[in-house]
Amino acid sequence: MSGEVCPVCDSRRVEGFLRRERVPVHQNIVAAAERAAVETPRGELDLAVCAACGFIFNRAFDPARMMYGEEYDNTQSCSPAFSRHMDDLVRRLVVGRGVRGARVVEVGCGRGLFLRKLVEFEGAGNTGHGFDPSYVGDEVTLGGRLRFERRYYDSECADVPADVVVCRHVIEHVPRPLALLGNVRKALANAPRARLFFETPCVEWILRNRVVWDFFYEHCSYFTAASLAVAFARAGFEVEGVSHVFGGQYLWLEARLPEGGARPEAPRDPGASARLAAEFARDERELVAGWRGRLRALRAAGGVALWGAGAKGVTFANLIDSGRGLVECVVDVNPAKQGCYVPGTGHPIVAPRDLPWRGVRTAVLMNPNYREENLRLLADAGLEVTLV
Ligand SMILES: [Zn+2]
Repeated sequence: MSGEVCPVCDSRRVEGFLRRERVPVHQNIVAAAERAAVETPRGELDLAVCAACGFIFNRAFDPARMMYGEEYDNTQSCSPAFSRHMDDLVRRLVVGRGVRGARVVEVGCGRGLFLRKLVEFEGAGNTGHGFDPSYVGDEVTLGGRLRFERRYYDSECADVPADVVVCRHVIEHVPRPLALLGNVRKALANAPRARLFFETPCVEWILRNRVVWDFFYEHCSYFTAASLAVAFARAGFEVEGVSHVFGGQYLWLEARLPEGGARPEAPRDPGASARLAAEFARDERELVAGWRGRLRALRAAGGVALWGAGAKGVTFANLIDSGRGLVECVVDVNPAKQGCYVPGTGHPIVAPRDLPWRGVRTAVLMNPNYREENLRLLADAGLEVTLV
């Protein structure tokens, strides 16, 4: 491929490594009817890696296909493990980084759960202002200490006071990450001392662990720690550090605006990205065949379910069982998803208590970080289901 430019560092040393056709464009919009699920809008995944900075992106991504409206729900807090992760981050911010008495802006706040935790943290004295076009709920709450706006955060928000900007699991949905960061910078025109905290998946973790279901259409931008730092530096932010959180799955970046208008350095470091990407692509076909074989073997003992109708479960179902011959259903603890259908394949989404009458004997867990809580859930319900 030629003419391609890395959206993070402008290098032309960009190489495609993985293609998947006709994937559902949304993994987090479940369908109320089976037919609608099967007829879900689809797009192409054409992943490329930048040999200069290590960034990975979907060259075929079309933002016009995305619908981040009110029906969009990527709330993961029904899961105790994810909720615990949010609590850890809140504590890290308040106790570790001294985010107290701060006016906190959250970019892409979803339903506002994280911001609420940050504002409600005892003794912290923070106030919150969340921005998200898909926000649903009260516009003002907690006696005015927490407010929300159903819109993007951009240059028109320069009059919104901000000491801290938090943005979690947003930048991977944006095909031009520098444009997003440029908008945040413009919004901070009157807040030169603001500190930024961003969270996004770590693509090296996905590649190293061969997590085939972590590449999907909604995520068009995949960062390594180094390429995330390059993006922020090129957008004019001074990066204070990038660390790994949530068992290494996510990157956590801390940045601020440079003092005295200095231009931050942005040294590019491709790391192992290109090599890992090539190895991943080589192994993907084998992995998919391997998973199909394992599911077939598990079916000998009874029906098989996938655990989790989030992006991972939906992608796994589409990749491994598009014809719905191997998996009975997908289990999800989110009551809003139960009774609905997986976009693309049309697998029914059920509650854990529905597993026995559906003849399910084995559940395949999509994220090992949730293993403990799911085992407990099954035991509490008196279910005999094996998690793998
Ligand atoms: Zn690059």
